Amino acid sequence: MMDECIICGTYLKKINKFVFKCHNCSFYKSTLKPGFGREIEGIEEVRINNFKKIINIIKKYEENKKPKILEIGSGDGFFLEECKNQNIDVTGSEADKEQFEKLKIRFSNTKKISLPLEKNFNEFDKFDYIVFNDVFEHLENLDLVLDQLKKFLNLNGKIIINLPSSSGLIFKFSEFLNRLGISNFYNRLWQKDLSSPHLSYFNDTNLNMLFKNSGYNLVYSGYLDTVSKKGNFKRLNSTINNKLVCLILSSILFLFFYFQKILPKDIIFHIFEFNSKN
Ligand SMILES: [Zn+2]
Repeated sequence: MMDECIICGTYLKKINKFVFKCHNCSFYKSTLKPGFGREIEGIEEVRINNFKKIINIIKKYEENKKPKILEIGSGDGFFLEECKNQNIDVTGSEADKEQFEKLKIRFSNTKKISLPLEKNFNEFDKFDYIVFNDVFEHLENLDLVLDQLKKFLNLNGKIIINLPSSSGLIFKFSEFLNRLGISNFYNRLWQKDLSSPHLSYFNDTNLNMLFKNSGYNLVYSGYLDTVSKKGNFKRLNSTINNKLVCLILSSILFLFFYFQKILPKDIIFHIFEFNSKN
């Protein structure tokens, strides 16, 4: 089956059993089965630091105003927690029923939202920001999703998005190993065989094109950190069983923490604004 690129319409080429690539705009898509949930542990520190960075940028935009924020796929609630600590009006959401009910106990205004929306979904409110923290790349039918999100946005509302980059060092290196026949890192990157695999991989340019096609303009472009100084051992040990290998790799990651500032960036962090006049 030949599929077209959702961004530029070019025919996709097969990379392996489950990955296809557009050779015009470099968009990657997988045929893995979408699902819910998160399974990576040990990255709390880097995530919380990244969330602080996101919140600081929102505060810079808003100065003395009190923006309303909706997070899609709040998972374990770290972003909600950080917003609450900083007295920010935030609504969480989850697609997975079990996770939704767990989250609602801690954050009472959590909603059950699964994207793309079901036909009879009633939008309940409008927001100044919709935030996707490592969630967008897990979704299907992105064109439809971007259209549906407009229902939730106030005038000049913004979408904040962070996701792993296909131009990043980690992706490039895993891809290189995959070409040599060492596929486990590449498969892990796509979260193959985990409950919620990645369905797409973007770079800065094709992500912007996707949003532009749906009437959104890029208003901020930056990056987030991939690794922290702490917690790497635990994170690695959830994938690799050998303690010595984990120790060596986590030492490399410790050094990488300082080098990541100058290397090709692994996490894209963009903000798009919907302008209804487009
Ligand atoms: Zn393309």
